[in-house]
Amino acid sequence: MQDAPPAAGSSTAPAENAVALADVAVPVPLPRALTYLVPDKLAASVAPGRRVLCTIGSRRIVGVVVGLRQGEAPPKAKPLLGVLEGVDLPEDLVTFLSRLANYYLAPIGEVVRLALPPTDRETARAVEEPTLFSTAKGVAARKVQWVIAEGAVETSIKENASRVLSVVRAHGALPLSRLQDQFGGARGTIKRLVEQGLVRVEEREAPRDPFFADKLERDVPPEATEAQQEAAATINAALEARGSGATLLVHGVTGSGKTEVYLRAIARAKEQKRGSIMLVPEIALTPQLVGRFRARFGDDVAVLHSALTQRERFDMWNRLRSGEVDVAIGARSALFAPVKDLGLVIVDEEHDPSFKQEEGVRYNARDMAILRAHQVGGVCLLGSATPSLESEQLARSGKATKIVLPDRARAQEMPKVEIIDLRRIGPGPTGDRRISVLLHRAIEATLAAKEQTILFLNRRGFAPSIRCEGCGELSSCPHCTVALTFHRRGASTAEGRMRCHWCEYEASMPLHCPKCNSDQIALEGLGTERLEETLKEAFPEARIARLDRDVASGKQVEKILDKVRAREVDILVGTQMVTKGHDLPHVTLVGVINADAALSIPDFRAPERAFQLLVQVAGRAGRGDSPGKVLVQTYDPEHHAIVHAVRHDVMGFFDRELRDRKELGYPPFSRMVFARVDAMDEKEALDAAAMLARAARAATRDGAGALEVLGPSPAPIAKVRNRFRFRVMLRSTSRERLRQGALAIHVAIGSLPRTVRASIDVDPVGAL
Ligand code: ADP
Ligand code: ZN
Ligand code: ZN
Repeated sequence: MQDAPPAAGSSTAPAENAVALADVAVPVPLPRALTYLVPDKLAASVAPGRRVLCTIGSRRIVGVVVGLRQGEAPPKAKPLLGVLEGVDLPEDLVTFLSRLANYYLAPIGEVVRLALPPTDRETARAVEEPTLFSTAKGVAARKVQWVIAEGAVETSIKENASRVLSVVRAHGALPLSRLQDQFGGARGTIKRLVEQGLVRVEEREAPRDPFFADKLERDVPPEATEAQQEAAATINAALEARGSGATLLVHGVTGSGKTEVYLRAIARAKEQKRGSIMLVPEIALTPQLVGRFRARFGDDVAVLHSALTQRERFDMWNRLRSGEVDVAIGARSALFAPVKDLGLVIVDEEHDPSFKQEEGVRYNARDMAILRAHQVGGVCLLGSATPSLESEQLARSGKATKIVLPDRARAQEMPKVEIIDLRRIGPGPTGDRRISVLLHRAIEATLAAKEQTILFLNRRGFAPSIRCEGCGELSSCPHCTVALTFHRRGASTAEGRMRCHWCEYEASMPLHCPKCNSDQIALEGLGTERLEETLKEAFPEARIARLDRDVASGKQVEKILDKVRAREVDILVGTQMVTKGHDLPHVTLVGVINADAALSIPDFRAPERAFQLLVQVAGRAGRGDSPGKVLVQTYDPEHHAIVHAVRHDVMGFFDRELRDRKELGYPPFSRMVFARVDAMDEKEALDAAAMLARAARAATRDGAGALEVLGPSPAPIAKVRNRFRFRVMLRSTSRERLRQGALAIHVAIGSLPRTVRASIDVDPVGAL
């Protein structure tokens, strides 16, 4: 990605009759920016990142300037009507957005929208009247007073005032209430500091943000372990270099102190007066994590999360833009935070698939983090206990520097992991073979010791399939080619319902098979809901909680985890929501109900995903003082993903999996592009996909890195919401060749009928 060519039009040799032109990203799904004439009276104020008023046809719209140049005016080019004050995007961000759009062949207008503050996105979408931020909702927020350091030089001030002043200066700005907490009678002192021009007081929106609800206690950074010191030295050297950018891969087991390493890196960037962005998977953005950042850096941390109101988001955006706040933390979209003088971009849990956006602009925030950091001569820090094979290969090929944190920071032992071979070990007292006798006994022992258990099962619902025992027919969704899942307690009814996990379809269980009329309908398989119920029967005295998308989203997740932390729960049952970086110190037993499930997905990345899930969930055990134990149930105990996960042997897994990928020509040894096509009419979808495949083939040439074009073929889930899905896969070892094919498809998509939807997915992640 680093060498993605810059967007077209950023520099052109001036022609004879050259005039000033602006390339403007407009909020319509056009592949490229539109070119407008820059009238003389606007010449001084038009700049990349500025919002401008322009016309498309007879509509007035607001666009963002992405490039300025001198050139021959295109025929029918119209002049810009005006430049809007207020929000503008920093120039480095505009360059980044242009490169991103170019790399993913995504419409620049949609890409720019990713970076505009929320209120402004609406303005940009529907301006008749370009009043700024008139759409901001919920503005009637509580105000608080902030104390802001001013430039004046102090002459003689009292000792107390001098202490207050130094704290304010250290932070740049602080809420008055915080100073009052810290220094009794600060109000009078501040009044005098204001009179001397040393600080000023300003009313600001109170953060109604749940992450900032609690009072803040500053922490004392722990003394770094030897490995952390080495990591810091490498990171600091990279930050000092300020060259063309560096990528560092922090590979450290869970609990090895990676977060502490990030905190130090951010502190160093701050010393250099540079800002930082830290991306985390949405689910890892917990009050616990944010608390650690606040404890280190105070409130000068912008936490960009989905629960913010538009006004709060806008406020955060402005504070970052002005440099008043220089650290942004958030899920993948925080990649577009307008951090001033950016120097560091961190991607925690960089292997997590949630960094890939799967709708709209299909970008991968992890890959783009590297691009964004390098573009500003900064450092990209990727961290994980189980790095992606892409990142590992970057390190092996010398494009990234690897930093290893081999041990847990607090000298706890790694949990013992044991395999339970379900082919040989029978069921426990529940009679359900998916709760083997060994797992059952281990749960009993953990309960007796008053410790906690996590059971991981990656299927939600009660039973993943419903089958007629008369004819063998599976109940499937009438709108999608997927089996229906049985949920005992639905959101809408207390009755059991069959539900589709791909659309909203829901139905009650049939009394008779629609095909053979048999009344023998069986619930097959085990979902988290059923597991919870079975355990409640087997361990009536135990307090059991469940964590999956059916019971928890957003803040509820944290509520359930708080209960676990408060030891109000003995057994936590859940989907991959339980595998993420939560620090649950009293969990000593982790059971993986079915390690094979993740391996059965038709995707070349299935072993990698399975391995990551197993290592991550195993890392939940023994985070406190008691050593942990992990039991992995499987029918396939020799599978390399399972064998290496059990031994905590990440390097062994890498060696084996990279060898397989190389042999089969999969990423990271090749690059892929999917063209995804869907339509209500199956034949129309297939014809369209075939047309795209032909276009790509016509663009191929033989020779090194020759482009492979595979398909069209039906997607693994061939129909979703009544739309038939096909895809064409492009693969090559040459980025250039691949791009030629993708561009050919990009052009061909333009001539598809409107009833067909088609998109290009560069570096696809999921196979479904
Ligand atoms: P990771 O992000 O790799 O999971 P953390 O940074 O969360 O690891 O560290 C795990 C635990 O160890 C945390 O409770 C943290 O406070 C503690 N810790 C980290 N570094 C140190 C250190 N140098 N000395 C003592 N405790 C540490
Ligand atoms: Zn039947
Ligand atoms: Zn469906």
